Amino acid sequence: MTLSYQQYNQVLHQSRLSTDTQKVAMVRRVGPRIARAAETFLTEAGQGDTIKNYHWEFNLIEDEKTANAWVMPGGRAAVYSGILRYTQDDTGLAVVLGHEVGHAIAGHGNERMSQGLIAELGGMALAVAFSQKPQQTQSLFMTAYGAGTTVGFLLPYSRLEESEADHIGLILMARAGYDPRQAIPFWERMAKQEGHKQPLEFLSTHPATQKRMEDIIRELPEALQYYNTSHS
Ligand SMILES: [Zn+2]
Repeated sequence: MTLSYQQYNQVLHQSRLSTDTQKVAMVRRVGPRIARAAETFLTEAGQGDTIKNYHWEFNLIEDEKTANAWVMPGGRAAVYSGILRYTQDDTGLAVVLGHEVGHAIAGHGNERMSQGLIAELGGMALAVAFSQKPQQTQSLFMTAYGAGTTVGFLLPYSRLEESEADHIGLILMARAGYDPRQAIPFWERMAKQEGHKQPLEFLSTHPATQKRMEDIIRELPEALQYYNTSHS
């Protein structure tokens, strides 16, 4: 977590933060609601300890060319303004942040980080790797947690991880009071951009495949139970 806070601060330092007050407000409205939903979700599952030290923070980076978002361990999250064209409103953003928080609470980044340490740095411990090979460790860290846009290298999650994050994401957005059915039009909007000259970051690592849509449709009734509960 200490490393993630350092890296996060560095990303913010190197980026231009959005000054669009409405958009920033949207990110800071939706993000914490998804975060609260994640906390209750894990607490009810008896796993509240895994994120009890998280300090959630949601920032909007001004970058129209980048359609991406990520969440680091510890709860530090970034949304790039380029993705807001596809999310369109609070509910669309809840699809993306639910999904990204899903990766975070399922520990997908941590898994990739440890695999990367073994594959690229011979199993070196994180602290040692960071002090001896800071550049390499930093790139590894950024790609492991989906923030690779800043180091120019993106690593897609596996299909299994994607499907798990989609599933958790639907439940989180529903519990946060956002209609999970809106996940379908969101992915359709993303899919329309496939074949675009410059592939979008989020889309290149998150293809909107037929299988993905089918899985989401199959999982909707479960998510809708939480949505209806949060609305009654
Ligand atoms: Zn994903």
